[in-house]
Amino acid sequence: MPTDGVSTELEGDPQLVPDPDGEVEPQPEGGVEPQPEAGVEPERPEPELDPETAARRDAALAQIRSFGDPVLRTKARPIERFDDALREEVERMGHLMDDALGVGLAATQVGVVHRLLVYRVVQDGPLAALVNPEIEWSSGRDSETVEEGCLSLPKVLVEVDRPIHVRVRALNEFGEPILIEATGLEARVIQHEIDHLDGVLILDRTSREQRKEAMRILREAQQAA
Ligand code: ZN
Repeated sequence: MPTDGVSTELEGDPQLVPDPDGEVEPQPEGGVEPQPEAGVEPERPEPELDPETAARRDAALAQIRSFGDPVLRTKARPIERFDDALREEVERMGHLMDDALGVGLAATQVGVVHRLLVYRVVQDGPLAALVNPEIEWSSGRDSETVEEGCLSLPKVLVEVDRPIHVRVRALNEFGEPILIEATGLEARVIQHEIDHLDGVLILDRTSREQRKEAMRILREAQQAA
């Protein structure tokens, strides 16, 4: 379960632990069950969602490109036009991310190969849209290892080590420059989504052992589909 560096930002809602760009996982009521020491949890049961939420999530996930789609390995190009179409795209991606119960989404995950990502790390907070984001500074070896999920890799959780702090320059959907000093979950989500814009997946950032296990889960899911 991703807890380190994630929990502090979610004090208002202890039952929800979002993975960057992954699913928000309802926690068992009345205490947390013992978890495996570390690593993926392939046998973890599906979170119990009410049928309506589950149906909406499935419909959203069906619109998100999943592992094996070459677009996920494509480096996205910079955005030059800041028009209504871009702002509509931001809105659409926000809805899709919400329906999928994710906390971040990159344009490449919906098959659009340009440098746009959206995220929301505080429940009911505003949706953030970053266009052409660049990590200007990171805390480097001041990093932490946390389990991450990904909307493009259903059922996969792997440990990823990332710098805890980043400073990111970007434009918003109106073309105005923004500077973000992010820490913890927000920093992790931004780095995860920028990776998507570079064709990089969490599988590339975890141990060989966890990658093997993740590939097994993905193969099984593809065979079942
Ligand atoms: Zn992802």
